[in-house]
Amino acid sequence: MIDPKYRRERMVREQLEARGIRDQDVLRAMRTVPRHLFVQEALASQAYDDRPQPIGHGQTISQPYIVAFMTELLQVKPGMKVLEIGTGSGYQAAVLSEMGATVHTIERVRELYDAARKLLLQDLKYGRIKLRLDDGTLGWPQDAPFDRILVTAGGPEVPKPLTEQLAEGGRLLIPVGERRRNQELVLITKEKGELREERKGGVLFVDLVGQYGW
Ligand code: SAH
Repeated sequence: MIDPKYRRERMVREQLEARGIRDQDVLRAMRTVPRHLFVQEALASQAYDDRPQPIGHGQTISQPYIVAFMTELLQVKPGMKVLEIGTGSGYQAAVLSEMGATVHTIERVRELYDAARKLLLQDLKYGRIKLRLDDGTLGWPQDAPFDRILVTAGGPEVPKPLTEQLAEGGRLLIPVGERRRNQELVLITKEKGELREERKGGVLFVDLVGQYGW
């Protein structure tokens, strides 16, 4: 296998910079996180390809460009408290942690939760990531509010608990639409208690399942 560091450099250059990702902190984070450790071993050689990869249980790790695009839109600053719904492989959580955020991430599939927990905390020793096995559409009320909230699965609507747990001046990003088709990335901002909604383009994510999901 070609040196992973070289493959990451190429991924950043050809898939991210070439398509307009400019945030240097996002590019640095994605140059750093060893994405090949977040995919199934048999797929490690394809980990840096320009597409999502299966991670088991019918779920996927997002395409590198989508991770970069969403992370850039979130405008994460060091020290911010970020909530992610849909830990999956743990890759997006690692990228957020490399940006200097304190990450809270929720997954509902036990096997994925267990694997991400081991990889992030034991193997890679990320110190600022908290994981939880639960329905993430309910958010994480005990640790709210959050400066940033990122949902990495597609739902029918924006879950109410999440807008309630968004801090003043906060940003929330979620794919909304139909199941596995016709989804749009929705950016919610909260200013003086008022929510504003912007559409940021078409995306395709696996289902957000749960009380405020499918
Ligand atoms: N961010 C992940 C990719 C997520 S795939 C990564 O970097 O690899 C979407 C994940 O959301 C799946 O693992 C799925 O099980 C999870 N999911 C779906 N609905 C959920 C819910 N209500 N709460 C928590 N996790 C959920």
